[in-house]
Amino acid sequence: MDIPVECFDHIPILRVLESVGTCETTALFCTECNKQLSESKTEC
Ligand SMILES: [Zn+2]
Repeated sequence: MDIPVECFDHIPILRVLESVGTCETTALFCTECNKQLSESKTEC
């Protein structure tokens, strides 16, 4: 398993993890190192 490399200054983007009907599960990820920056949350 690769050791995750975190960048110095994260660039967050909101990414849709799952979309079921009108419900979307989203979380913030860094565009550079791909680290998840926030808890995933589901909005309906
Ligand atoms: Zn980063």
